[in-house]
Amino acid sequence: MEDTARFDVDVAIIGGGVAGLWTLNRLCRAGYNAVLLESRALGSGQTMASQGMIHGGMKYTLSGALTGASEAIADMPDHWRRCLRGEGDVDLRRAEILSDHFYMWSTASITSRLGGFLASKTLRGRVDKVSRRDLPDLLKHPGFKGTVYRLADVVMDTPSVVRALAENMSGRIFKIDWPSVSLNTDSEGHTRLQYQDSQYPFTLAARAWVFSAGRGNQDLLDAVGATRPTMQLRPLKQVMVRHNLPYSFFGHCLGAETTPRLTISSHPMGNGSQVWYLGGSLAEKGVDQDDETLIGRARGELTALMPWLDLKTADWAVLPVERAEPRQQNLSRPDNAFADWVCREEGATDCIVAWPTKLTLSPNLAQIVMARLDERNIRPGGGPAPAIQLPAPEVAPTPWETAFA
Ligand SMILES: Cc1cc2nc3c(=O)[nH]c(=O)nc-3n(C[C@H](O)[C@H](O)[C@H](O)COP(=O)(O)OP(=O)(O)OC[C@H]3O[C@@H](n4cnc5c(N)ncnc54)[C@H](O)[C@@H]3O)c2cc1C
Repeated sequence: MEDTARFDVDVAIIGGGVAGLWTLNRLCRAGYNAVLLESRALGSGQTMASQGMIHGGMKYTLSGALTGASEAIADMPDHWRRCLRGEGDVDLRRAEILSDHFYMWSTASITSRLGGFLASKTLRGRVDKVSRRDLPDLLKHPGFKGTVYRLADVVMDTPSVVRALAENMSGRIFKIDWPSVSLNTDSEGHTRLQYQDSQYPFTLAARAWVFSAGRGNQDLLDAVGATRPTMQLRPLKQVMVRHNLPYSFFGHCLGAETTPRLTISSHPMGNGSQVWYLGGSLAEKGVDQDDETLIGRARGELTALMPWLDLKTADWAVLPVERAEPRQQNLSRPDNAFADWVCREEGATDCIVAWPTKLTLSPNLAQIVMARLDERNIRPGGGPAPAIQLPAPEVAPTPWETAFA
């Protein structure tokens, strides 16, 4: 039989979006010998497609009082800030902030509802009403009639987050190629990864596996014969508009519904141009529309909200993307990060499946993974990174770099 190298680690993570990368950082800092395996480029799924808003859950509370879940998210902006200063559980000093605040604004028609809500006691200290004099440049126009609030929550440059998390862990992140890889369970129920490369076959064994592959988790669950937990996908169609207007803006425009009518984040593209990345209700309802119709709607929304903008020479593109999450009743949005042991018909496995459900909640997710390991008495074993002969994956391009290349 062929001589196959074998590597043993405490934890092997599959999937290198923000969830896997954050968890890898957290575990290694705690003394676990952990590695991460990525099949494409780091952040290729939802992470690079995200708007980078690290929010304290404010937009989820629009329908009423703060729930327990939104209280859990409320600490996240401060948690990320500690990491950005190098004082948190993960070192994000090399990551970049796009904005240290974002706005919530309403058109004149729903102003009173927004005002009443944001002025409530619960939210004091985190939200400021913006006077007309201090309006952001984009809205500083005599034609603007709404009300604007400023939230002290950060917006991250997501590619820099992915890069920072990956650089912290160099030597522990490997690119795998699925036709050459299989996940198998041995006679004692332990999961093993076999790499059947003709030049360099190896087996990777781990005391626990973490599946953090976003929508790719379903294939991993199938590969280990898991029946629970199950996944849901909620599609979106984001719109990207590249232009040379000078306004960099981050915010949610609130409409009559509980989902923001329009969310705008801004991403520099070089040569003075930038992309506005448009989400919110526009992107949720857009899934039933063809690209041309959706772009027409996006144009219509921007014109209705800010008729003074000239977007005649702008370029437009659409990004279909799916949010991968643990299944909820009625396919609703989960409130919390999720990580739990996977079950097969014949019992439990040594695999955890994880979905952060929000970029914001990645620290929360890593904490839950640590608690899951702890409950099975899987303690940090330490040791150097295994000398696996595979290259490190690249960092994925952003959707707008791809669309407007
Ligand atoms: C349009 C959009 C906007 C968003 N905006 C925000 C926001 O502003 N704020 C916020 O908090 N959240 C936001 N989110 C949610 C957030 O982006 C996600 O919750 C988060 O990025 C999920 O990260 P992840 O690592 O679980 O998955 P992903 O980012 O999808 O990463 C999965 C990784 O696993 C890899 N992979 C897949 N299959 C395999 C396999 N078989 N083997 C190895 N690797 C594999 C993929 O290539 C990918 O790199 C947004 C989401 C979307 C879609």
